[in-house]
Amino acid sequence: DVVLEGRGLAHSYGSTRVLDAVDVEVRAGEIVAVMGPSGSGKSTLLHLLAGLLRPDAGEVWLAGERLDTLGERRRSERRLAERGFVFQFGDLAPELTVEENVELPLRLTGVRPPTARARAHEMLDRLGIVEHASKRLSEVSGGQAQRAAVARALVHTPPVILADEPTGSLDTTTGELVLEAFVAAAREQGSAVVLVTHELRVASWASRDVLLRDGRIVGGSGRPALDEPL
Ligand code: ADP
Ligand code: ADP
Repeated sequence: DVVLEGRGLAHSYGSTRVLDAVDVEVRAGEIVAVMGPSGSGKSTLLHLLAGLLRPDAGEVWLAGERLDTLGERRRSERRLAERGFVFQFGDLAPELTVEENVELPLRLTGVRPPTARARAHEMLDRLGIVEHASKRLSEVSGGQAQRAAVARALVHTPPVILADEPTGSLDTTTGELVLEAFVAAAREQGSAVVLVTHELRVASWASRDVLLRDGRIVGGSGRPALDEPL
């Protein structure tokens, strides 16, 4: 079953078209790697699928509901609660602690504080940063902040997880902790995961890849094969 779908997506910044006629479908339990050279439109596609940007043409569907026509307020209310995001330019709150940031999506969905804290710590532990849980985000390293962002994206087991270069500033070992956490989310919880990366090593963890060039899909597949095992 397709959880997230982009149909005929196009986007321009000013008069420059950076994405054109892109079709993508992501099923529950799969990890799709979006690859392509710098400037090919990967981040833009992710922002469109996230409902953070509105497409100039095309549609975004999330669990059978059209997302791109929702009002800005409804889109932002539902963004953090229903999805998990990891963006390159961190959208975590610098004045909150690591654990407070990670608890946020749980608190928004009504999880009680002690349970939220326990689940946040469990996720931080998996990612190897539980000892930094009570530090302010502004006091941890870039790599630790990146793992905090991953923890926040995964902690509430959202049906859709979108991540832009989630291992970008991590060493190989730490990057693998992050990739293992994405694989667990897909396999164990059936999350649909879209991972933007330019590293083949990272893409090798995905079930499938989509190759973008100059804003169009030029390789891989935007759709799951019918008989493709997860
Ligand atoms: P990457 O290629 O690593 O995804 P980019 O440097 O292309 O990163 O873009 C990162 C972000 O910076 C984009 O998502 C966008 O918000 C912003 N950005 C990129 N290029 C421009 C630009 N020419 N003008 C304004 N903002 C830009
Ligand atoms: P990628 O993630 O593959 O590097 P992006 O989606 O970040 O690609 O960018 C695609 C193109 O759009 C690039 O040429 C980039 O400079 C441009 N771009 C991205 N964000 C903006 C922005 N906010 N304003 C203007 N141009 C942008």
